[in-house]
Amino acid sequence: MGLFKKILIANRGEIAIRIQKTARRLGIHTVAICTPEDADDMYVRMADESWQLKGKSLADTYLNITRIIDLAIRSGAEAVHPGYGFLSENPEFADACEKHHMVFIGPPGEMIRLMGNKITSGKFVESLGVPVPETITGNKSEILSRRHSIDFPVLVKAAGGGGGKGMRIVESAEHLETALLSTAREAKAYFDNEEIYLEKYIEKPRHIEVQILGDHYGNVIHLFERECSVQRRYQKIIEETPAVKVPEKIRERIRHDAVTIAGGMQYRNAGTIEFLVDGNWDYYFLEMNTRLQVEHPVTEMTTGIDLVEQQIRIASGEKLGISQENIRQTGHAMECRLYAEDPARDFLPSPGRITLYREPVSEKIRMDSGISGPGNISPRFDPLIGKLVVRGVDRKEVLEQMSSALSSCIIHGVTHNIPFLQSLIRHPLFKSNDISTHFYEENKKEILENMKHEQEKLDPLLPLSFFLVHQLNTSRQIRPVNVWQEIGFWRLMMEIPVKSQSGEMIVSILGNDNQGFKLEMGARELTAGIISAVDNDMTLEINGKTLRAVVSSGNGGKGWVSFEGQLFEFSRLDVLPGEYIFTETGSGENSHSGKIFSPMPGKIVDIRISRNATVSKGDILLVVEAMKMENSLVAPFDGQVSAVHARMGQLIGNRELLMELVPSGKEN
Ligand code: ADP
Ligand code: ADP
Ligand code: MG
Repeated sequence: MGLFKKILIANRGEIAIRIQKTARRLGIHTVAICTPEDADDMYVRMADESWQLKGKSLADTYLNITRIIDLAIRSGAEAVHPGYGFLSENPEFADACEKHHMVFIGPPGEMIRLMGNKITSGKFVESLGVPVPETITGNKSEILSRRHSIDFPVLVKAAGGGGGKGMRIVESAEHLETALLSTAREAKAYFDNEEIYLEKYIEKPRHIEVQILGDHYGNVIHLFERECSVQRRYQKIIEETPAVKVPEKIRERIRHDAVTIAGGMQYRNAGTIEFLVDGNWDYYFLEMNTRLQVEHPVTEMTTGIDLVEQQIRIASGEKLGISQENIRQTGHAMECRLYAEDPARDFLPSPGRITLYREPVSEKIRMDSGISGPGNISPRFDPLIGKLVVRGVDRKEVLEQMSSALSSCIIHGVTHNIPFLQSLIRHPLFKSNDISTHFYEENKKEILENMKHEQEKLDPLLPLSFFLVHQLNTSRQIRPVNVWQEIGFWRLMMEIPVKSQSGEMIVSILGNDNQGFKLEMGARELTAGIISAVDNDMTLEINGKTLRAVVSSGNGGKGWVSFEGQLFEFSRLDVLPGEYIFTETGSGENSHSGKIFSPMPGKIVDIRISRNATVSKGDILLVVEAMKMENSLVAPFDGQVSAVHARMGQLIGNRELLMELVPSGKEN
């Protein structure tokens, strides 16, 4: 039947783009689906066509089987690629596709069902003679009645679990009942299946998984293993291949067993079989993921095989074109998952707008991401920004490459885990590869402290200088010759309150004397002269030394500075969120007296409102030009203008009274 002419990708973000890339290379048109909120995302813009799913909930949109199949039919697609997550392991979706003669790029529903339940998959795998951890199944009272013969610790697991959810470690019999109850509740909420069971807790294992490919004709091959032991909350953070610390003989057996499992079910599609390997190199089947895996790029980087292409070829009915003997793995590859989250605050998701985005570029680097420039990380999904994948001849080279790739990956606007990853990969135990799935938990304190320390080693006034110069220099295109003309007239003293990671401070700008800004912070004074500033790249001479940084400014006086491989975040406290400025002396931000003061020395270039006019909160009252930047002063509340002191064209100093307002309801 040949390859498809058009496929619908039932996913979003980075993985939708990843699939589009291969489809395009194969001459296949792609159909994107999106919610109105995602309609301007890169994956939608890149697709050959796109259709919107109306609704707010996931059930109405990316999980809406009926609607997605309907769109696939209407768009003329012949097949649907589910990506990972969402409907990728939903047997009803696979069945529904089949029913509507739409090819599901994945295995048949039956296979998803078999492997989607950890109890049935374990039994099946055991029947093939592959080792599985000891389990205890049954309902709650059956499990409880056996509590005195259980060899603790055990894991209570959800049969339908995934994504690291629905798992709880139990150390002793007395904690069993509570754990059973809470895991069942969680399982019901997340997976709509409260079936739970106990599994022997494997002490300090490594997570080793095998990439599999199977076709319609009973051919099954493996594409070597991946190691995914660096995890937090049972979720992977860093993955690599090959798993060099596991003896080759053991790895060969694990790969062989993975092929046995996939072969035993006549699996077709790409799939991953996960194992845990303990300190004695005994290994146990954990689960099978019947889909493309998040970390598939490391396998592609070392085997040269495009897994999405293989999925598409298999689904279209082609025979596997590669034989086991012809697959070679060369070199080493590692993936870091870049997340908008705050590792220091227990990985709190920090979605939002990325204001500056620069990927590292090298033939050894692959970046799979949902954005290519400024863009949004939605609060409604995993806050994955992208996956940074690096290859090299061996693990040592990969670690060096990864470190420099992380340093040159510039992401401003949201809190993210790059500094954390940087600290993690520099940890001696990670470097020497003496790790288990507990590596992060056991070394958490050190990793987080080192992360902070890396930053604290640098003089904080240096990135702060970059931030302030960027804030004050608004033309953004400065070359050495005309620096001071460009910066403008302003020579008056100005005090800027700034907040940084390390606290709040007041910086006095002592003016420029044709050599540079003089900044005074506490007892320290430094001179910062601009050598060049083009877009976000800035070179300054600070106290005689030439330094470079990438700097950006966001709304509300916020700014980010990438300096010496570290990211610094600042905000000006004299600029309130929303680009507008209104300040007054001596009062809290929220209890505004209605007196509008100048926030800085400058010139009145617009007066929008006259005396007695009624204004709403946020209305622009006046515009002050300072440092060639127009600053709008806005009404802090709904009210009426009781006095206007400013005059058009007036040169004003810092904190001069410009206008007075009375709140609504107090006019008389
Ligand atoms: P993989 O198994 O491919 O390595 P993960 O185990 O991290 O990837 O995640 C498996 C799938 O579960 C992914 O498709 C991801 O989108 C989804 N997922 C990840 N985290 C969660 C979560 N917290 N809740 C539900 N699903 C998740
Ligand atoms: P999910 O379906 O959420 O991916 P898995 O069964 O694949 O769940 O397990 C995810 C992680 O949880 C493993 O990589 C491992 O770190 C830990 N884990 C799972 N089962 C065990 C076990 N029996 N003993 C020790 N750790 C386990
Ligand atoms: Mg898993």
